[in-house]
Amino acid sequence: MSDAPDRPPGQHRRTRLTRVGVAEDVSVGAVAAPLHLTTTYVWPDPHTKPALDYGRSSSPNRQLLERALAELEGAAGGVITASGMAAIDLVLSLLRPGDLVLAPHDCYGGTHRLMSARAARGHFDVAFVDQTDLAAVDRALAARAPKLVWIETPSNPLMRVTDITALVEKARAMGALSAADNTFLTPARQQPLALGCDVVVHSTTKFLNGHGDVIGGAALAADPACVDALKWWSNCAGLAGAPFDAYQTLRGLRTLFARLDAQEATAAALAERLASRLGPERVHYPGLNSHPQHALAARQQSGFGAMASMTLADGAAADAFLRALRLIPVAASLGGFETLACRPATMTHAGMAPDARAAAGVHDGLIRVSVGLEHEADLWTDIARALDAAGA
Ligand SMILES: *Cc1c(COP(=O)(O)O)cnc(C)c1O
Repeated sequence: MSDAPDRPPGQHRRTRLTRVGVAEDVSVGAVAAPLHLTTTYVWPDPHTKPALDYGRSSSPNRQLLERALAELEGAAGGVITASGMAAIDLVLSLLRPGDLVLAPHDCYGGTHRLMSARAARGHFDVAFVDQTDLAAVDRALAARAPKLVWIETPSNPLMRVTDITALVEKARAMGALSAADNTFLTPARQQPLALGCDVVVHSTTKFLNGHGDVIGGAALAADPACVDALKWWSNCAGLAGAPFDAYQTLRGLRTLFARLDAQEATAAALAERLASRLGPERVHYPGLNSHPQHALAARQQSGFGAMASMTLADGAAADAFLRALRLIPVAASLGGFETLACRPATMTHAGMAPDARAAAGVHDGLIRVSVGLEHEADLWTDIARALDAAGA
């Protein structure tokens, strides 16, 4: 790598993303970065530890993906993990018993389950609050100072938007770290570190890989000392992702901006159609003028993303809708090139206790759609037919 020609990386993140790892190989001059599956690396001398040492702590393919994501998020560095949950657990390993995490009451179901289960074992404490209600956040902060403020915006599945800058300022004033799960918008649409967050996490399984064929995660930080702490824990606990997964994910990541441009345009068009059919209050997409945090989303994000949800009458209507889809598969997960639909109450959020689900507003009739690269007209034909079947 060291004697690669001095190519300018480009001014724009879009360009820089296409340059990471390209034409850097010095073994055979490959333009595409090679896949290194090795477990371990040669020591030149028993006292001289090589820069790359052992596959649990380092891998050239993970390093490239880490560089690309750090470039996109404006991070000092980070860790590529085996899943999004591993990335979240990695950040939580910075906490001690008695520390408090202040998390959104409507965070990703797996995050809610992980934090609740670890809190039940006494690893730390957790308080869930509606972070779109800054008065409720202030009350929670006054009750007890957190060590970590966890942010996820837009929320899953209701697409509620949280004011990152306001939360970060409150966290910082109390000496707490702030971490944001940026899975839904990706750094192509939202940069939490630039808004003051200390840590950003991803399920790279979703938009970053974008091809529905890898499970992976990443945790990145602005402060090099925090990056070192994350790397130490990742190596200690063995949380890192496989080299092949990093290779695949970087391959998927190359087209992030182009995919998102197309998927977002289709999502916006479908959200408009749904809003005129169902009424705007039933459609949850931050790009709609009727969305309660539309102005905040327009200010904080550089686009509205490709995720939307809608509230049908009840669980029976939601089931009828999903059973009538022909083109769109019913599946958990999101962010791929293929449109997917799901019913959060019985699928992605089934692991949440029913009262926690109700508090988070995950209605039985809620349908979440991850909009892919298909032609908008084909998607609308499928959705409109399914809405007929659901009596909506
Ligand atoms: C999917 C997802 C996760 C968990 O990621 P995995 O890769 O499935 O472990 C975390 N947060 C959000 C917002 C997600 O959508």
